Amino acid sequence: MAEKLTAIKGMNDILPPESARWEWLEDKVRQLMRRYGYQNMRTPIVEPTALFVRGLGEVTDIVEKEMYSFEDSLNGDKLTLRPEGTAGSVRAINEHNFLYEGGKRLYYIGPMFRHERPQKGRYRQFHQVGAEVLGFAGPDVDAELILMTAALWRDLGLSIGQDVSLQINSLGQPEERKAHRAALITYLEENIDQLDEEARRRLHSNPLRILDTKNPAMQALVEAAPKLIDFLGEASLAHFGAVKFALEAAGIPYQVNTRLVRGMDYYNLTVFEWVTDKLGAQGTVCGGGRYDGLIEQLGGKPAPAVGWGLGMERLLLLLQEIGVEAPSTAPDAYAMVFAGTPMPVVLATLEVLRAQGVCVQLHPAGKDGPASPKSQFKKADASGARFALVFGPDEVAQGLVAVKPLRDGGEQTSLQLAEAAGWAHRLLAQPQAS
Ligand code: ATP
Ligand code: MG
Repeated sequence: MAEKLTAIKGMNDILPPESARWEWLEDKVRQLMRRYGYQNMRTPIVEPTALFVRGLGEVTDIVEKEMYSFEDSLNGDKLTLRPEGTAGSVRAINEHNFLYEGGKRLYYIGPMFRHERPQKGRYRQFHQVGAEVLGFAGPDVDAELILMTAALWRDLGLSIGQDVSLQINSLGQPEERKAHRAALITYLEENIDQLDEEARRRLHSNPLRILDTKNPAMQALVEAAPKLIDFLGEASLAHFGAVKFALEAAGIPYQVNTRLVRGMDYYNLTVFEWVTDKLGAQGTVCGGGRYDGLIEQLGGKPAPAVGWGLGMERLLLLLQEIGVEAPSTAPDAYAMVFAGTPMPVVLATLEVLRAQGVCVQLHPAGKDGPASPKSQFKKADASGARFALVFGPDEVAQGLVAVKPLRDGGEQTSLQLAEAAGWAHRLLAQPQAS
């Protein structure tokens, strides 16, 4: 036998029945986006490396060590598999002058790539839902984006405060960050002996990211560091206050986490994360914030923007953890055929049922003809279908099919093939037996 090839480490196949949970989640996301007036956007998975270096910042985890970058073997262009969705979204709206007629609310669903150490909730190919609002400066949009994530949690059966909780912060404006940065560097220099190697390296290039350290030995130090919030001016505080007020008015509990800085350099003003304590170290399910400078930084006409990204693997793990199941994808009916059954009649009848919206699975014949009735009934049962449609050759010759209930123990009945559409109609009108 030829050697089996395997997937790349940290990159997962998503197969049935697991894929049904993904489709269910994606459906919920699409319904949510429709309700809030967000339109779908699809951008390439490969982008010029420079987009992420310029967009995310050179001294970030992603750009320093997590990107899948390579050279186009034909022309030597430097390319990167997208590690996140915001930079590509901004590139696209700039390239198409997409804010020409005013602000836009957009969303995407798709794979992202980061060269990290794979573990539960952390993969090298993972999937994000992202929402980006471009062209609106007011705090109401920040609040709307957070409220819609809260609505998604409710739609999925997650309890806010228990399964997921909201942390928010304000990063202020670049000048305010500059003043804070100077104070922070001074503080960290005074405590240089307590810094780990990574923190020392970032001390002058990106000291704010030191506050985001996962090193337990540095927690006390970062806890006592100068807080950016104390450097915010009136306008930044007012913006933050308006977001908080909107959350309170909507009854969404939150915690101000003054150490929340997020991984990318492009954020300003509002930042937020939805965190859970049910997934170990991979506790952030969704994160986002404002990035008013990014559009201009990537060569577009200056315009404010705000968005979030949600990790679908983590969200699905969390749902599994608390026992939320996706609704069944079992067929309504399972069709069986026997030696001598005229297949064209069966196929035509199933088409009539499917055209009415009935989900029907046909047991396909092998090269020696249909499987034994026993093994077909076993499959029918395992499929979760409510009915078996038994197309025996004698019945079909009389224009009939036997309908055998599989779930609720009812009597087997006989259905005229010519009446299939009416039967389908009545079936779909009945409440689903669980
Ligand atoms: P973390 O701190 O866990 O590394 P992050 O700050 O790098 O997360 P973001 O860049 O904000 O994450 O991405 C948004 C969301 O995407 C995260 O909150 C998380 O749910 C998910 N995510 C990020 N990296 C991964 C990964 N390697 N595997 C699976 N999900 C991920
Ligand atoms: Mg990360």
